Amino acid sequence: MTKRCYYEVLGVSKDASTSELKKAYRKLAIKFHPDKNPNDHEAEEKFKELGEAYEALSDEDKRAAYDRYGHAAFENGGGGRGGFGGGGGFHDASDIFSQVFGGAFGGGGFEDIFGGGGRRRNPSGRQPGSDLRYDLEITLEEAAEGIQKELEIEKLEACGTCNSSGSKSGSGGRKTCATCGGQGVVTQQRGIFIQQTECPACNGAGQTIADPCPDCHGEGRKSETTRIKINIPAGVDDGTRLRSTGNGDAGLRGGQPGDLYVFLHIKRHDVFEREGDDLFCEVPMPFSTAALGGELEVPTLEGRSSIKIPAGTQGGTTFRLRNRGIKDLRTGGKGDLHVEVHVEVPTKLNGEQKEKLTEFSESIGVKNNPMQESFFEKAKKFFGS
Ligand SMILES: [Zn+2]
Ligand SMILES: [Zn+2]
Repeated sequence: MTKRCYYEVLGVSKDASTSELKKAYRKLAIKFHPDKNPNDHEAEEKFKELGEAYEALSDEDKRAAYDRYGHAAFENGGGGRGGFGGGGGFHDASDIFSQVFGGAFGGGGFEDIFGGGGRRRNPSGRQPGSDLRYDLEITLEEAAEGIQKELEIEKLEACGTCNSSGSKSGSGGRKTCATCGGQGVVTQQRGIFIQQTECPACNGAGQTIADPCPDCHGEGRKSETTRIKINIPAGVDDGTRLRSTGNGDAGLRGGQPGDLYVFLHIKRHDVFEREGDDLFCEVPMPFSTAALGGELEVPTLEGRSSIKIPAGTQGGTTFRLRNRGIKDLRTGGKGDLHVEVHVEVPTKLNGEQKEKLTEFSESIGVKNNPMQESFFEKAKKFFGS
């Protein structure tokens, strides 16, 4: 049986990066996963083929061998290295699975979206901590001004009792994991598949701490509520993502900590709409001001301001206030504020006012209503008279 090229199977180019490989694999693995395609033999074959391709290409050494010798690299007696090296074989692949099919992390506003950062079996049991996501809602004023916020988050912190070693005596003595017998993986029946997953007892290390720290149970880290200050620069927008380096979960037994990603959401404002760096608002204008001209009070993000209304301003006219918008996050320049005025018609008129208005109306005639005049010019053509 001829085998398809591994790069072709994953649909990536020969110079694809590790993260491109991972992405392509995740996407296709979800598509062809047996849970999604029950009794579909073709999908099942594709799924197996996919696992094999990813397994080979995600490992630097195996990928180098494959690039050099092709499929022969993995056949016994072939030109390269022999076979797929035993027990831990499907480790990387199944690791991604646990992220794809159930990677959600508990706790307020948190989600483990980036996984453990490519876990590897490591005899020391050291593993990097997960990146974390925090969704934070701020006001438009805060986004415009910039602000420091203190987040209260529950995450895995380095254990102080054992100095992150996980060992009570600090000796770091280890013994073979009783759950997996040192394999680092456990085997599970999943439908027609036998699937290997990372051993939950030793997290894939194959060994556990001989004298586990009573505070963290040998993990070298424990869940704690922590306060983290984060600086939000002026000009951030809805969807801006800020990274707080090293403020994700602590690593396992002294591994590198993950990062904290803060996703910003901007609350809807009662007065202003934002578009990029520009702000928009609508302001009512008395009809006497529209006719006579005058000052009109308008809101800005910094407080009240006023604009000059020329005599004879029509409703719907937009005035632009330069540099009264939002600061640009990159250039530092400021956007504009666009104020659209709406003519307000007075409602409760008394007898005297009505009389005056009627008098006024009779005196002005159609000739002094420019919009009405041009409208009737057009209408005349339409009615043909
Ligand atoms: Zn501890
Ligand atoms: Zn184990």
